[in-house]
Amino acid sequence: MAFEGLSEKLQNAFRNLRGKGQISEADLRSTMREIRLALLDADVNFTVVRNFVKQVQEKAKGEKVLEGLNPGQQIVKIVDDELTEMMGGSATELKKAPKIPTIIMMVGLQGAGKTTTVGKLAHRLKKDDNARPLLIAADVYRPAAIDQLEQVGKQIDVPVFSEGTDVDPVQIVKDGLDQARENHNDYVFIDTAGRLQIDEKLMHELEQIKEVAKPTDILLVVDAMTGQNAVETAEGFNDDLDITGVVLTKLDGDTRGGAALSIKAVTGKPILFTGQGEKMDDLDVFHPDRMASRILGMGDVLSLVEKTQKNVDEQKAQELAEKMRENSFNFDDFLDQLQQIQNMGPLKDIMAMIPGMANNPALKNVEMDPKDLERIKAMIYSMTNEERENPEVLNPSRRRRIARGSAQPIQSVNRMIKQFDQMKKMMNQVSNGNMAGMENMMQA
Ligand code: GDP
Repeated sequence: MAFEGLSEKLQNAFRNLRGKGQISEADLRSTMREIRLALLDADVNFTVVRNFVKQVQEKAKGEKVLEGLNPGQQIVKIVDDELTEMMGGSATELKKAPKIPTIIMMVGLQGAGKTTTVGKLAHRLKKDDNARPLLIAADVYRPAAIDQLEQVGKQIDVPVFSEGTDVDPVQIVKDGLDQARENHNDYVFIDTAGRLQIDEKLMHELEQIKEVAKPTDILLVVDAMTGQNAVETAEGFNDDLDITGVVLTKLDGDTRGGAALSIKAVTGKPILFTGQGEKMDDLDVFHPDRMASRILGMGDVLSLVEKTQKNVDEQKAQELAEKMRENSFNFDDFLDQLQQIQNMGPLKDIMAMIPGMANNPALKNVEMDPKDLERIKAMIYSMTNEERENPEVLNPSRRRRIARGSAQPIQSVNRMIKQFDQMKKMMNQVSNGNMAGMENMMQA
């Protein structure tokens, strides 16, 4: 997870304030020193760190003790507020043009993830808003770039406008926009060319495209793993193009988090989205407040709830609730549940959103191997319909048959049936109104 090291260090920094009725100047100074080192270690921009520490210090001295919080918690709250502010306050949304199409110009260096992000954003709008986007291939310098965008378009079933590599990109954009207006596309994404470094020729071309397209948003795509270079790139693009926001890709591979923490403070432009993997669904809205809470190990229950809602089929949830009431949860439902959990992404990332869990050492061992799910599927598919619906008929000879049928050891079959029984028991408790477990989780 991103911010792993920072998260651990910040929580250590707060440890010596815990439970103190009063915090001395020396306590505060040593905590602030640790916070400063933690941020610098996370590759946060030097000036940003200095301002941050100054802000926190001033607030910590000035603040009246809030009711219900001890002084240590008070400092954590100030740091939480300041981290949130540093990353941009609240989430920034894509703008919508008063008249269709909304035009989003995507810029960035080669390899930052521009083409992939165009696909992810179009996919998201299509899925969530029933949008009808058009993608314009305006990178004429690498034939592979057009192919790649066409591949992405095919994958998400979104049309791509291209005129090959012999036409001037500014003309391609004009023609593409004409087509979008004709076809009433409500969103247009312009995939522009990237270079390995910012150069004048590229900037000039992008300025011309900006002039003809008059984009609703100009999003810069930067690679989180490049740390402070990403911040410098953002400054460079912003100076020339006055970008409206940033998409920070590859946060899944960035353990430090320096770019995420510095970009807004350095450029004044917010991060709108983060890329969390190579797949079309691996894009998250960037919520500075939730990110701050996660960094401070306070969990991110809101994102967890949203993720669950997105991946849980409404109808299936209804059916499941019904089954829980009737106590008729069976193996087909069990399979459905496991599938839905798997669709939510790596179990470890999900658990990390639960308050107090982020730095729990137990988390290091939580991995749901996709192969496990395949094995469980094989075993359930080896059951007869009767067995799936009435698990109590599973006597030893039936279990042996299932083991043979699915090519699994008998112990695995027994273990799986035990897991099923446990899940069923848990569901039964929940449906009987025994939510104690859940409440404890929320209060942790
Ligand atoms: P472009 O040159 O800026 O258009 O970059 P691409 O879209 O071709 O992406 C470059 C590489 O980064 C590809 O292999 C992508 O799959 C990968 N990539 C893009 N975004 C992400 C992300 O959020 N996480 C990870 N892990 N890989 C990404």
